[in-house]
Amino acid sequence: MSTLVTGIAELVTNDGAVGNGTLGLVADAAIVVEDGVVAWVGPAHAAPDADTRIDVGGRAVIPGFVDSHAHLVFAGDRAAEFEARMSGQRYDGGGIASTVAATRAASDETLRERLRALVTEMRAQGTTTVEVKSGYGLTVDDEARALRLAAEATPETTFLGAHVVPAEYSGRVDDYVGLVTGPMLAACAPHARWIDVFCEPASAHAFDGDATRTVLEAGRAAGLELRVHANQLSAGPGVRLAVELGAASADHCTHLTDADVDALAGGSTVATLLPGVEFSTRSPYPDARRLLAAGVTVALATDCNPGSCFTSSMAFCVALAVREMAMTPAEALWAATAGGAAALRRSDVGHLRPGARADLAVLDAPSYRHLAYRPGVPLVRTLELPTTEALSGP
Ligand SMILES: [Zn+2]
Repeated sequence: MSTLVTGIAELVTNDGAVGNGTLGLVADAAIVVEDGVVAWVGPAHAAPDADTRIDVGGRAVIPGFVDSHAHLVFAGDRAAEFEARMSGQRYDGGGIASTVAATRAASDETLRERLRALVTEMRAQGTTTVEVKSGYGLTVDDEARALRLAAEATPETTFLGAHVVPAEYSGRVDDYVGLVTGPMLAACAPHARWIDVFCEPASAHAFDGDATRTVLEAGRAAGLELRVHANQLSAGPGVRLAVELGAASADHCTHLTDADVDALAGGSTVATLLPGVEFSTRSPYPDARRLLAAGVTVALATDCNPGSCFTSSMAFCVALAVREMAMTPAEALWAATAGGAAALRRSDVGHLRPGARADLAVLDAPSYRHLAYRPGVPLVRTLELPTTEALSGP
């Protein structure tokens, strides 16, 4: 079944061969979608026929956001911690323990409902691909459970047993790393595509360079691909390790040395910036311009989680990237779509050239520029296309 989408005032394809500039802009455009895949893109006057038609009425259409960093399997609430932080308390990753306790105590159904609600909330705001991490269970059974639930929502599942050292392993980091790389990895690997580590020697709760290397190498041996929480609170070894080990993405990248930037520029690792975290922890933002000037591929993601940043809005992150990190509106949108796809090593999402998944988001505005120009306004939503079932009813 094919659908022709018309009335597109401005289409962002992210393909310079299809349209103008890096965003591949096409004015007065149309798209034909066939069986969930983009079959044709171009000016509306040249559009071929299709079985059915949707007119978006002079709105902009963009590729659905690719949110490559989110923690959505958890229970509990840390609004009080947020309030304390906004009243002057410092963030050091310690509050994660309270989410771990609540998550362990929660039923599968409670965790599943929260996860589904957050994914639905994201989709309603234009996010069509989301990565989901474990990391609030920190026992063999609780981490495997988190990943089983995450896999119900997305193929982009990430084992983050090395999120923090749980209280029962306090002072015994090596023992905990042994658990993570042993029975926990064995139980989690069947449900995960990725493995991740919170590499942060500056936090008493996270992992140093040696532990990070041990966990990532064990994950890779178990068939998982690599990503790293790197250089969030200090210029630690995370970014250089990520590049050295060929990780798809180094996430946060808030505190970088020249050697870190050089490593990213010379490697294949994407720098994923999470400005919602700096906003929500009232911290200095990463230097996006320095990374872009060095030729590093930059992605934007939410890091949606109950502690350091509880937003599910990619549009908000785009606005922050433009206002607070001096990215242009075009750079920010590319990073939130094609950049996220690169961070997940996906070639079927993050763009709208023929062959892409038909993940379309529509703006109640004539141009993508309104995403940052009108911050906080709910302009963007996923365009739900008619399915065969929906049309073949009585
Ligand atoms: Zn995170």
